[in-house]
Amino acid sequence: PQTQQQTEDYLFKIVLIGDAAVGKSNLLARFARDEFHANSKSTIGVEFQTQKMEINNKEVKAQIWDTAGQERFRAVTSAYYRGAVGALLVYDISRRLTFDSVGRWLNELQTHSDMNVVTILVGNKCDLKEGREVTTAEGKALAEAQGMFFIETSALDSSNVNAAFQKVVNEIYYILS
Ligand code: GDP
Ligand code: MG
Repeated sequence: PQTQQQTEDYLFKIVLIGDAAVGKSNLLARFARDEFHANSKSTIGVEFQTQKMEINNKEVKAQIWDTAGQERFRAVTSAYYRGAVGALLVYDISRRLTFDSVGRWLNELQTHSDMNVVTILVGNKCDLKEGREVTTAEGKALAEAQGMFFIETSALDSSNVNAAFQKVVNEIYYILS
């Protein structure tokens, strides 16, 4: 990378993981297209979306992978994880069961990935203040214990969505450059 600063193209594969219906597809839709789908179907998911980002005046491409609903059947394949350098592990702050699954997803990620994957734990749907079942402190504590970054987001009102993706990409860039 040092010899061709001008033309160097950084391409980072980042995977979205977490239980069904936590908002993975909507986080990507918000980030890449500034869209939100109130009644999104698992079938709308694209395989991956490439998003240009800028770090230190350098162009970085984030290739963000979304599931097509395979997580419902616990059938996310190793091809999905292959070559990933970053991950957003998403749960829904209004459904504790999805937070309870975080450990399983982390295992899955570590089993299938060939390197240390920069991972951010994402508590999505933080707009649902009334329905909150997982506190911010709990999310933070789990992330810290497992060596993950942490953020709470809302794909609905856009809170922290860009920040979540930017954090992962920045950290990957920092490690690899
Ligand atoms: P996925 O299965 O993890 O990809 O989840 P989806 O993105 O398909 O979202 C599942 C459901 O949650 C859809 O009805 C979305 O409209 C809704 N949803 C996603 N993100 C948010 C959010 O931040 N806030 C709220 N209130 N609903 C959301
Ligand atoms: Mg989806």
